Amino acid sequence: MNNKTDLIGLSKEELAACLKEMGEPAFRAKQIWQWIYFYGKTDFAEMTNLSKDLRQKLADNFTLNRPKIVTEQLSSDKTRKWLLEFADGQKIETVYIPESDRGAVCISTQIGCAMGCKFCHTGSQKLTRNLSAGEIVSQFMVARDVYNEWHLDGEKRMLSNIVLMGMGEPLQNYENVVKAVKILTDGEGIALSKRRITLSTSGIVPFIKNIDKDIGVKLAVSLHASNNELRSQIMPINKKYPLPELMQACRDYQDNHGGYITFEYLMLKDFNDTPAHAVELAALMKKYQINAKFNLIAFNPWPGCDYEPSSNNRIHAFSQKLQDFGYAAPIRTARGQDILAACGQLKSKKESENKS
Ligand code: SAH
Ligand code: SF4
Repeated sequence: MNNKTDLIGLSKEELAACLKEMGEPAFRAKQIWQWIYFYGKTDFAEMTNLSKDLRQKLADNFTLNRPKIVTEQLSSDKTRKWLLEFADGQKIETVYIPESDRGAVCISTQIGCAMGCKFCHTGSQKLTRNLSAGEIVSQFMVARDVYNEWHLDGEKRMLSNIVLMGMGEPLQNYENVVKAVKILTDGEGIALSKRRITLSTSGIVPFIKNIDKDIGVKLAVSLHASNNELRSQIMPINKKYPLPELMQACRDYQDNHGGYITFEYLMLKDFNDTPAHAVELAALMKKYQINAKFNLIAFNPWPGCDYEPSSNNRIHAFSQKLQDFGYAAPIRTARGQDILAACGQLKSKKESENKS
C-alpha cells in the first residue's frame, strides 16, 4: 500500500481542492474530471491536454484505482457477474443484467449486510464494512471498461441503468451512496440520468424522507409481506420501522417525487403467496393511496434457508389478483441463475468455498 490519494470517489469540489493545493487553476479539475469520468482513463499519461510535468506530478501523488476483477462469469442468458477485490482485499459482486437494447448494472453498497433478512444469503453473512463512494462508483466503471462503452454516445450504450440492489443496504451507507450517485449523474462525466438509477431498500424510514431531495433517484422498497406481523417475521428492520411508518414514508416520497413506487415482493411458499395476501396487499396500497408497481420475485433458495419458493401457479394467480385491483405486477424471472447472480445469491458461492 502507498500513501497516494485515489481520485475516484472524490466529489468535484474535493478534486478541485486537491488541484488548488498543487497550485493549479480551477479549470484543470474540470479537465481531469472529464478524463476520469467521461473518457474513463486509468492512466494520467493519457491526459494529453495536461502538461507532461503535471501528468507526472499527478501520477506521483494520486491513483485512479479500479477494483481488481478476480473472476468474471457469463451466464447462458448473457448475465455477467464479476467478483471484484478492493485494495484491502475485501470482495464484492457486481452483476450486469442485459435486456434487449439496454441493461442494468446491479451494484453493491456494503460488504455483507447487517439487516439480517431471513430469506437473504447476504443477510446471513453479517456486515463487514461500508463501501466508499469510490468503491461504489468504480463498480460501474469496471463494467464500462469491460463493455468498452466509454466512447459511445448515450443512446447506444447497453449499460444504461443502475440498480443499487447488490449486496448491502444502501440506506445504511447513506452518505457514501449519495456521494456516489452525485458522481454517476454529473453531467460532465458519466452523466447517467437519475431516472435511470433505482435504489432498493429494506425500509430505513428516516432516510427514505431524504432520497428525493438529496439525489432524486427512483425508489424500490423490499416489502415482501402484506401485513406488519408477517413482515416482522422475515425482516428484523420491521420491528424498528413498522409497516405503517414505512407506508407513510412511501406516500410522502410519492407526494414529493411523483411517479410510482416499486415494491419488491418475494414469493415465499405458503407464507405470503395466497390470494388472500394479494387482497390484503392491494388494500394496504389503497389505504395509503400509493401508486404501486409490484415486482414479484421468485425466491432463490440457498442451503440452510427456512423458506421455499412458491409454485408458478401461485405466483401467476397472485399477479393476476393484483392486476384485478389495477396494479402492475410483473413476475421477475431470475437472471443468471447458472452463475448464482440472482437476487440474494451474491457472494454466496465464494463464501461457501472459503468455508470448506
Ligand atoms: N438491501 C436492499 C437491496 C439489496 S437486496 C434491499 O433489501 O432492498 C435486493 C433484492 O433482493 C431485495 O428486494 C431483496 O429482498 C431480494 N432478495 C434477497 N434475498 C433473496 C432471495 N434469496 N431470492 C430472491 N430475492 C432475494
Ligand atoms: Fe440486507 Fe437487502 Fe439482504 Fe435484507 S434483503 S439482508 S437488507 S441485502
